[in-house]
Amino acid sequence: MIDFRSDTVTRPTQAMRQAMASAEVGDDVYGDDPTVNGLEAYAADRFGFESALFTATGTQANLLAIMSHCGRGEEYLCGQSAHNYRYEGGGAAVLGSVQPQPIENEPDGSIDLNKARAAIKADDFHFAMTRLLSLENTIGGKVLSLDYQREARAFCDDHQLLLHLDGARVFNAAVKTGCDVTEITRHYDSVSVCLSKGLGAPVGSLLLGSEAFIMRATRLRKMLGGGMRQAGILAAAGRIALEQGPLRLHEDHDNAEYLTACLADIPQLDINPAQTQTNIVYARCRSGRAVALRDALAEQGILITAGDPIRFVTHLDVSRQDVDQLVAAIKRFYSGA
Ligand SMILES: *Cc1c(COP(=O)(O)O)cnc(C)c1O
Repeated sequence: MIDFRSDTVTRPTQAMRQAMASAEVGDDVYGDDPTVNGLEAYAADRFGFESALFTATGTQANLLAIMSHCGRGEEYLCGQSAHNYRYEGGGAAVLGSVQPQPIENEPDGSIDLNKARAAIKADDFHFAMTRLLSLENTIGGKVLSLDYQREARAFCDDHQLLLHLDGARVFNAAVKTGCDVTEITRHYDSVSVCLSKGLGAPVGSLLLGSEAFIMRATRLRKMLGGGMRQAGILAAAGRIALEQGPLRLHEDHDNAEYLTACLADIPQLDINPAQTQTNIVYARCRSGRAVALRDALAEQGILITAGDPIRFVTHLDVSRQDVDQLVAAIKRFYSGA
């Protein structure tokens, strides 16, 4: 199978499996797991924060961040297309009693700070109390500029808001921006990062922030059922993902760019090459036959997500030859062969 559905589908490498098998472990709820503790200390240092927390998923890390920053009856500003608004089951509202205030994302994925300013509630008992702005980088594969993120930080300081980054793919953003990841993360009060996407770990995410923030998040993680025991088995793979994963993300970006150029040559597809910035490629099937295309590709062992637009994601288990196979199969589909 060649799987373009998501960068979450990667299988752990042999080195990860060996590290998992031989990981030193303890009960992490007691703080006894040296491999988890090592990963958290390494991550805090790597991202330039006081503390880090290993979490089961990115969804959990975002939920812990929102609930640690905001209390019952408070609210967070976020993008209308933000993962932590649209794709996390409404968790902040359901479990945290925290109200989202979504704002339409600009075409580049940013949130217009004038629109954010207009959405901040006055200090009036009719309104929820606005506490937090949450950004996402990358968002739909698009990268927020360093200038924009600096402005967002100043905006939050001016309005006494906290600033969270859903950085599930923040290393893709750093690679594309051509900077160290800390040049991005330094603007935020907290950051969530997925180890289980392009970085290649089988399971796990990280939440980063101040020591007091991570202490609140640790309490909430236990409450939400996320206190894992010998979690070093997972953290061992996560450590390899964090140390080595970022070094090869440029290959995924190159493959996505190459795929974009190939798809642009297929007249039945509508694609905007400027939209491909990292490892995610979107294309529309002009005849609306995305589902038929998906099914035809699946018969040849190639998996895609047949939305409108269709989404193709490159990752460490997709090679240049796999991209060539995909393109050839799409051309066969449209030629009726
Ligand atoms: C995947 C993703 C998450 C959630 O991660 P899970 O580990 O799947 O829960 C959060 N934010 C963004 C932007 C993501 O792409």
